[in-house]
Amino acid sequence: MGYQVHVLFDGYSSMNDSEMKANCSCTLIKGNKNIIVDTMTPWDRDRIIEGLSRHNLSPDKIDYLVCTHCHSDHVGNNNLFLNAKHIVGFSISSKDTYFIHPFETGEPYVIDDDIKVIPTPGHTLADVTVVVKTKDQGTVAITGDLFEKEEDIDNPHLWSHVAGSDDPEIQRQNRNRILSSVDWIVPGHGPMFKVTEKMKERSKDVLHHSDCNFHYI
Ligand SMILES: [Zn+2]
Repeated sequence: MGYQVHVLFDGYSSMNDSEMKANCSCTLIKGNKNIIVDTMTPWDRDRIIEGLSRHNLSPDKIDYLVCTHCHSDHVGNNNLFLNAKHIVGFSISSKDTYFIHPFETGEPYVIDDDIKVIPTPGHTLADVTVVVKTKDQGTVAITGDLFEKEEDIDNPHLWSHVAGSDDPEIQRQNRNRILSSVDWIVPGHGPMFKVTEKMKERSKDVLHHSDCNFHYI
């Protein structure tokens, strides 16, 4: 049985003069292993339980929890998932045991043949992206805030300044690398979107002219 990606809640973000409203996309990958990606704010506990129940799952049936990075809107309900191995940014743990993994050197963490967690720093220096080969949607990347929302493809100011970036140059490279190699993206703060041929071509062109060498998706 292949994997299916279900976005339980679409992320969003909007800004006015004095405050920003935001919550992250919360995504379930269902299949041989069950994986949840990003757990929203502590106030969303009941919604997550209810979202999982729509897919006949409860938190104790989740095998892996991945938080794409350590900002408060992405880690709020990690303690719902006590049977899962936790991958929080570059840190992998279960209870008080930490598993050493060299994300820093670009090494993906392989969950199985169809799911990898790859390092995609930029938004923070320890961001990760989950890349899934699915049964009927092709390859899907759940990227957290590497992509804020689809609109940031045409308006880079949204990811580089509104959302903020700890290393814009690395983030730009990682964005292009994801665009050039997947079919769908679940961004951190907007609905899932299809990667168009135009987006792919543009990103490949940029990658071609840079010396980054990514080949592990
Ligand atoms: Zn975020």
